[in-house]
Amino acid sequence: MNRDNLIIAVDGPAGSGKSTVANLLAEKLNGRKLDTGAIYRSFAWFMIQNDISLEGGNIDNLVESFDISFSDGKIFINDTDVTHSIRTPEISSAASKVAVRPEIRNALFSTQRKLASPGPTVCEGRDMGTVVFPDAPFKFFLTATPEKRAMRRFLELSERGDKTPFEDILRQQIERDKRDSERDIAPLRAAEDATVIDSSEMTAVQVVDFILDIISNH
Ligand code: C5P
Repeated sequence: MNRDNLIIAVDGPAGSGKSTVANLLAEKLNGRKLDTGAIYRSFAWFMIQNDISLEGGNIDNLVESFDISFSDGKIFINDTDVTHSIRTPEISSAASKVAVRPEIRNALFSTQRKLASPGPTVCEGRDMGTVVFPDAPFKFFLTATPEKRAMRRFLELSERGDKTPFEDILRQQIERDKRDSERDIAPLRAAEDATVIDSSEMTAVQVVDFILDIISNH
């Protein structure tokens, strides 16, 4: 297998452990990680900055001036460091609102494919295995109970000093899962040829070992 073309798709709902797993996996494979949720978050952030309505505002001009780059663990939009500003609960919700719009998904499709090359790249998101990289040789879909996922998000936010209560995170997560799963275009679901992993009772390292086992036995 040509390493340059190697894509590993890791999909799943919020808090399923995708990011941690994708980071560790990319490290183990000596490759890169592409966080496509960060691209949707960044686009939502950019719309808010430009006073464009998330639900219906015209995005034609915005798409042209949206220049996203990843460097040294940081995310930049047109030279502005947005690494932290896109991680708030408000932007989580805004990202899932803009992600239902087909013209936005289409506009971000080629951005994602471009940023994934050259591989090996671990691509994490909601539709990596189904839409963006349907030919990826390895596809994984992570799940965990809603409570476990909300607790992971709660601990992550608390560590950063964000005091959003657990109940609010769980409620927002349920709303976001519903919007992500029920949208018409590229809904959150496992690809038919994906390996589904329930990580509720697994550590990230255990999930990564499980995935590496599958890759090395291929
Ligand atoms: O993964 P993360 O929670 O950062 O994603 C934020 C939102 O972006 C998701 O709730 C989803 O609506 C959207 N998204 C998407 N497709 C992807 C990645 C993220 O629709 N591939």
